[in-house]
Amino acid sequence: MARKGEDKAYVKELTSKREDFAQWYVDVIRKTDMADYTTLKGCMVIKPYGFALWEGIRQALDQRIRRTGHKNAYFPLFVPESLLKLEADHVKGFAPEVAWVTKGGSEELEEPLAIRPTSEAIICSIYAKWVQSYRDLPILINQWANVVRWEKVTRLFLRTTEFLWQEGHTCHRTQEEAQEETIRMLEVYREFAETELAMPVLYGEKTDSEKFAGAQKTYAIEALMADGKALQAGTSHNLGQHFAKVFQIKFLDEDQKEKYVWQTSWGVSTRLIGGVVMMHGDDYGLALPPRIAPVQVVFVPIYFSDSMEEVIRKVKELGDKLGAYRVELDLRDTQTAGWKFNEWEMKGVPLRIEVGPKDIKKKQVVMVRRDTREKTFVPEERFVETVGEQLEDIQRNLFQRALDFRKDNTSHTDDYGEFKEIIERKRGFIVSGWCGDPLCEAKVKEDTKATIRCLPLEELDATGARCLACGKPAAKRAYFARAY
Ligand SMILES: [Zn+2]
Repeated sequence: MARKGEDKAYVKELTSKREDFAQWYVDVIRKTDMADYTTLKGCMVIKPYGFALWEGIRQALDQRIRRTGHKNAYFPLFVPESLLKLEADHVKGFAPEVAWVTKGGSEELEEPLAIRPTSEAIICSIYAKWVQSYRDLPILINQWANVVRWEKVTRLFLRTTEFLWQEGHTCHRTQEEAQEETIRMLEVYREFAETELAMPVLYGEKTDSEKFAGAQKTYAIEALMADGKALQAGTSHNLGQHFAKVFQIKFLDEDQKEKYVWQTSWGVSTRLIGGVVMMHGDDYGLALPPRIAPVQVVFVPIYFSDSMEEVIRKVKELGDKLGAYRVELDLRDTQTAGWKFNEWEMKGVPLRIEVGPKDIKKKQVVMVRRDTREKTFVPEERFVETVGEQLEDIQRNLFQRALDFRKDNTSHTDDYGEFKEIIERKRGFIVSGWCGDPLCEAKVKEDTKATIRCLPLEELDATGARCLACGKPAAKRAYFARAY
C-alpha cells in the first residue's frame, strides 16, 4: 500500500461544485453515505454517517436548550382535525401540506387525525389543562421529534416530507417575558450555529408575509450558501396570546384576575445538515467542522507486507493516546491507502494521520488537514497537542472562510435595475431600502424571486434610503436574497 498512485476514480464521479451545484450537493450526500432516496417519494433514509452528524448537532444544541432552563418531553404525533382547525391563520398556513389519517384498521375514524406538521395545536390543548395558576408558569419545554409536511418538490435534508427537528413551546406570565424568551432562543441558535457548525448567520425579524402562521413575530437566523442562496437555518416565534385565546390557556394571577398566557415556539431541523454540506463542502466532498464531525481524526497506516505488523501496532498505540477525540483507525486491508485518503477526504473528516515505516523511524507522523489539504510532519512527542491545535484551527478557519465569503457576496443598492442584475449574476445578500409596504415586497419577489430574509435586530443605517420597488423614502434597510 504505497502512498503514491492515489485512487482518482473515487472523486471522479463527483460533479464539480461550480459547474452544477445542485448535482454536486446530491452526489456528496449519497457518496458519503449520509442519506439516500427511498421508494417513498419525498422521504429519505438517514444513513449511519448522516445520523451520527445529526446526533452531534442534537447533543450540542440540547445542552444549550437545557442550560437555558428547558426540559425535554414528548407529545402525540396525531392532531385531531378539530384542534388543528381552531386557529384560523395557523390552519390556513399549513393546510396544503398536512397528511391525514382517516382509518384505523378497516374502520373509518370519526374524526380525521393530522400527522403533526408542527405541534402548536396539540401542545396548546394539553397546556390548557396544565396551567391554572401563575405558580404553574413559566412552562419551558422542548421536544425532539419528527414532523410531516406533504411537499411537492423535495431535496435531501433541505426539504423532505418527513424530517427531524426540535420544537420548543413555552408559556409565560407576561408579554415581556415571552419576548425575552423569543430573543434568548434566537441568540442560542446564532451562537450554536456559529460555534458548532462554523456557520456565520444573520439574525433578525421576518416581515409579516414571511412569518410563521399564527405568530405575532417571527425571528430567524439566515446563512449564505456557496451558490449565493440563503438558507433559513432556525426560527423563533413570539406567539403573543393568539393560541392562548383559541385554546383557552388561562391562569389566575397574583392579583386574582384571570389572564391568558403569553407563548413562544422555536425550532431547527435536519435541514441544518444540508446547510453544513453546502457551506463548507468542495470538489473533494464534505468538509465537516471538527466540533460536530462524527470522526474527527482518521489514521491511515501505510505499509508493505514486511512492515505491516509494526505499522499497525504503532497506529493502535497512537490512536489510544487520542482518547479525548472521536477517532477511527482505518485498518482495512481491502483498499489501498490512496483509496482511503480519497474516501475520508470525501467524508469530510477534519484531520488525517498517516503512519508508514519511514515515519516510525523518524519518530514522526504525517498530518493532513481537510480544510486546506495542507500536509505537515509532526514529531511524535508533540502529536497529541498538535491534534488539538489543528482541530481548533480548522474549526476557526471554516468559520472565517464562510464569513469572508458572505462579506464578498453582500451587496448594497437601492437601485432596482442594479438589484436585478446582482440577483441574476452574483446573487448573495443584497442590502436595500424597503418602505414597509407588503406590495413592494411582493413585487420584488415576483420580479426577481428574491425575498426579504430579515430585518436585522441591530438596525442598519437607513439615512437617505429609498424603497427598492417604489422609490419612496424607506424607513428601513433589509437583507434580500433568493432562498432555499
Ligand atoms: Zn415601497
